[in-house]
Amino acid sequence: MIGISACLVGENCRYDGGNCLRTTLEQLIQEGKAVSICPEVLGGLSTPRPPAEIIGGNGDDVLDGHARVVDIRGNDVTEEFVQGAYIAFKLIQQFRVTTIVLKENSPSCGSSAIYDGTFTGQKVVGFGVTAALFRKHGLNVINEQQVEKLVLK
Ligand code: SF4
Repeated sequence: MIGISACLVGENCRYDGGNCLRTTLEQLIQEGKAVSICPEVLGGLSTPRPPAEIIGGNGDDVLDGHARVVDIRGNDVTEEFVQGAYIAFKLIQQFRVTTIVLKENSPSCGSSAIYDGTFTGQKVVGFGVTAALFRKHGLNVINEQQVEKLVLK
C-alpha cells in the first residue's frame, strides 16, 4: 500500500482551503492501492488556517525539541504538527504503508525542501515534521514530482 498527502488527491485540506490535485495519484486511491493522510488536520488544526513554517531547523529538529513550528501570526503550532505526525504514522502503519508520497515544500510533508521560516517564499533544503518522522522509521518518502516520473516511465 502507498500513502499519499491528502491534498495531492484532491482533499481541500491545505492551509488556504484548497488542494494540489495530481490526477495520477488520485487514481491510485480510486484503485484501492493508496491511502491518504493530512498530518496537520490529524493534529487538530482547522482548514483554512494561517500558513506555518519551521523556525530554527527542519523536521528532525522539531521532533528533537530544537526547532519550532510557528504560523504567520506568531502562534506556536509545534505541538499540533508533532501530534499530527505521530497520528499519521500510526495510521499508515495500520495500512502497512512502506512508500509514501508527500507534498513538497510543506512544513509537515516536504521531503527535499521547506520554507525557511521567514515567510518570504525562500526555500531551504530540508524536510517537514511528518517527513522526518517517517524517514526516521525507515519509510521510503518521495515527493509528487518523483512519483510522477516513476509512474510515467
Ligand atoms: S502538505 Fe501535508 S499537511 Fe499540508 S495540506 Fe497537504 S497533506 Fe496536509
